[in-house]
Amino acid sequence: MNIDKILEYQKKDLEIVKLTHTLVDSPNRKAINQILNIVKETQYASSALESEAEGVLVQFNNLKKTYDDNVNSFITLTKKSVENISESEMSGVMNLINVMSSNLNILEKKLLGLAEKVNSILSNYEEAKKKYEMARKKHSEIKTKYEKEKSLLQPKISAFEAELKAMEKSVDVKLLTKYKEKRQDKIFPIFVKFSSDACGGCRMELPYAQIEKLKKEGIIECENCHRYMFMP
Ligand SMILES: [Zn+2]
Repeated sequence: MNIDKILEYQKKDLEIVKLTHTLVDSPNRKAINQILNIVKETQYASSALESEAEGVLVQFNNLKKTYDDNVNSFITLTKKSVENISESEMSGVMNLINVMSSNLNILEKKLLGLAEKVNSILSNYEEAKKKYEMARKKHSEIKTKYEKEKSLLQPKISAFEAELKAMEKSVDVKLLTKYKEKRQDKIFPIFVKFSSDACGGCRMELPYAQIEKLKKEGIIECENCHRYMFMP
């Protein structure tokens, strides 16, 4: 089996691998991922604030009901004619007024507390919104830069791909099929030399039986890194 052609093919393919890595390692791409994380965080913060606001609304409605109940009791009291009230009823009325007054005090404090909560929710919400807007703006700026970087590299990659395509005719079909399968699994390089009793890819030493198999078959797959080893 002639391995030279597939090795030439692999060497050319290395240029594509390098260019693709330039994109993968691009600071712009990393910045985009960081920004996307900020966007996710602010979205999460906003939805947490929304459910907090819902909780405050429930508390407010409960307080409002207590307030209304108190007001209604007060109206009922004021409708009673004073002449018809006995002394014990009068002290009952006084008690009720005391209870109501303290209820209203408590209500007032609770409402103040709620108002503070509402303010803090609003300001946190504003902050999250600002962060989100900033992240969005930055995202679109960097994305443009990244797209430009990509568009500069793409023609180079396409040129190498065309060269590879042209080379395919001279490569052994079986080897080419093996190569393409591994390439899809993001393994590179795919064909490696067997040297010093070890795989040229991951350096794992081969047991005797494997070496014998390699000598017999010319090419075997490494059990560790799954590259193809060949006898130089
Ligand atoms: Zn290996």
